[in-house]
Amino acid sequence: MIRRTALLLALPGVLLAGASPLVTEAAAARSAVTEVRTIGKSVQGRNIVAWRIGDPKSSRKVVVLAAMHGNERGPSRILHNLRDGRAITGADIWVVPNYNPDGVARRARQNAHRVDLNRNYPRNWKRLTGAYDSGPGPASEPETQAVMAFLRAVRPAYVVSFHQPLRGVGRAGPKGRAFVRRLHRGLRLPVKSFNCSGVCHGTMTEWFNASFPGVAVTVEYGRGVSRTQATRTGPNGVLKAVGARR
Ligand SMILES: [Zn+2]
Repeated sequence: MIRRTALLLALPGVLLAGASPLVTEAAAARSAVTEVRTIGKSVQGRNIVAWRIGDPKSSRKVVVLAAMHGNERGPSRILHNLRDGRAITGADIWVVPNYNPDGVARRARQNAHRVDLNRNYPRNWKRLTGAYDSGPGPASEPETQAVMAFLRAVRPAYVVSFHQPLRGVGRAGPKGRAFVRRLHRGLRLPVKSFNCSGVCHGTMTEWFNASFPGVAVTVEYGRGVSRTQATRTGPNGVLKAVGARR
């Protein structure tokens, strides 16, 4: 890996001559990455970036998201390790390690409008205020619009949305049962019901599961993500659960 990076630095023009303009030099050094796409911008104009890894020809489409809440950044390391490792076969996977870049910059749950992006989706949307502020209307936020358009374009069979700190794999109804079980085994986290203290309003997974044939699952790590979880159990567990390997 180090040798290849050094070569790229020495001969960027030569090695990148045939690459898509979207593929940056840094991305080209990562053997799993086949495409880098800016899927939208945050309120403050930061890019929301999706990295495509795996086999683009595979009919098994997967989207993995992290840091939808900017103060839950631990699982982003799992996505970075998925992205930066060796080539992947068996699935066409997109990783979005920094869903809420403005929140991440402030280490805050919400986006720059102080909206909880996981209450902003147009499924059972309800006006909520405070820490779970749902925004002035369904899908009012640019981050929500970006991810909705992206999911509509990719139409993944599997979506994994990483959070903290409730430590578990969220149940996702009958159609998600087998996938939840595979994530539970692969990630070594218990299966739980995350019902948002009663009823969920405007969550991404509910919207996706009601709108598409694919299945979206919330996975919560604890307060911390260990080195083993970030580098081994996490990336390997996701790959195994979606039927991919590297
Ligand atoms: Zn969260």
